[in-house]
Amino acid sequence: KFITFEGGEGSGKSTQAALLAGRLRTLGISVVLTREPGGSPGAEAVRHVLLSGAAKPLGAEAEAILFAAARADHLDQTIRPALERGAWVVCDRFVDSTRVYQGAVGKVESTVIRALERVTVGDTLPDLTIVLDLPAETGLARAAGRREGGAVDRFEGEALAFHAALRDAYRVIAAAEPERCAVIDAAPPPPRIADEVWTVVCARLGA
Ligand code: C5P
Repeated sequence: KFITFEGGEGSGKSTQAALLAGRLRTLGISVVLTREPGGSPGAEAVRHVLLSGAAKPLGAEAEAILFAAARADHLDQTIRPALERGAWVVCDRFVDSTRVYQGAVGKVESTVIRALERVTVGDTLPDLTIVLDLPAETGLARAAGRREGGAVDRFEGEALAFHAALRDAYRVIAAAEPERCAVIDAAPPPPRIADEVWTVVCARLGA
């Protein structure tokens, strides 16, 4: 099974992906926990180019193509081999991040986004996508708190409107694909969110 976590900045995707992977492993399920951009050596190299600002200034379309290149490698090197050997894959961000960040927010035409998706993802769509939903104000505050102690990446210096646009775009996707997506409130403490996630995984995928 292939499960992805999506959501805006500070929504707790990484934490929840790790908690879910741990829970599945306690059942004896083989799990590959991975992330985007990244998840394979080639894709991690592209991540560095994207997030370090090394390639700045980069147009939204060029950026979308780089994210797609990273995703193609990640799928070839990590995701498809894992699924083929029967492991579950839990991925922190996937194709919806491109639809949202480069498409809805970055204004890359949807025909371009779809074409890239066809080439990279093909039919390897997630069985389940958990959308962690957070009010823009909370996302902004959490992202700001995280920046103080650590590295600033070039995407996180944005304002409230950006967080609101991310949230809206994710909700539009989830509403359009309810059979694949489940929206979970990301405001409660992490253990409560993890329980919600677990309920959804059991109900939809029969873990
Ligand atoms: O999820 P994570 O915080 O590791 O993502 C790194 C950064 O890359 C985020 O700040 C996010 O805004 C950005 N990103 C993006 N487009 C994507 C995926 C991630 O702009 N398709």
